[in-house]
Amino acid sequence: MTAAPRRKAIFIDRDGTLSEEVGYVNHLSRFRLFPFAVDAIRLVNRSPFLAVLVTNQAGVARGYFAEEMIHAVHGEVKRALDAGGAHLDGVYFCPHHPSAGEPPYRQDCECRKPKPGLLHRAASDLGVDLAGSYVVGDRRGDLELAWGVGATAVMVKTGYGRGEIEHLAPAWPRQPDLVADHLLDAVVQILSREEKR
Ligand SMILES: [Mg+2]
Ligand SMILES: [Zn+2]
Repeated sequence: MTAAPRRKAIFIDRDGTLSEEVGYVNHLSRFRLFPFAVDAIRLVNRSPFLAVLVTNQAGVARGYFAEEMIHAVHGEVKRALDAGGAHLDGVYFCPHHPSAGEPPYRQDCECRKPKPGLLHRAASDLGVDLAGSYVVGDRRGDLELAWGVGATAVMVKTGYGRGEIEHLAPAWPRQPDLVADHLLDAVVQILSREEKR
């Protein structure tokens, strides 16, 4: 008996990467999908990679909004992607915070990025080969998330990205494996890199 072949994924951060970084999205009206987001996900869908959203949403633990808000936002993402012929293969979020709010949301969980819990969950649900996968995000924590599981780290210049790259990255012991202007550029770079393998 042979195991089902494992697939590679492009794990995508939400705020600052798929959508504008606006602080806590505590109302649907604050959510702004980037104009290139649908094209980027559709491109992933037409490649061998799975498209998986991974996001920290500690606003729940902090009491800024209920977990339902996250589902409402992700429903909005799904509608926009559906309309553009694109889809996410998985959506994973961490609503926890180690010190803010009340249990059960106040906990030192294994899923708050850069801890790898969300990736492990996706790997088990979807059969993902993490070492062959990519994480795309706008903050150093997204890079650490990638490196923690042996994946490739891609930093975008949207959201906090440009500031982190210009002001903080020079002092980092390890630089992003790839730097992209935005998510669509990141996907294009990943796919062209893979083609050359
Ligand atoms: Mg982000
Ligand atoms: Zn968590």
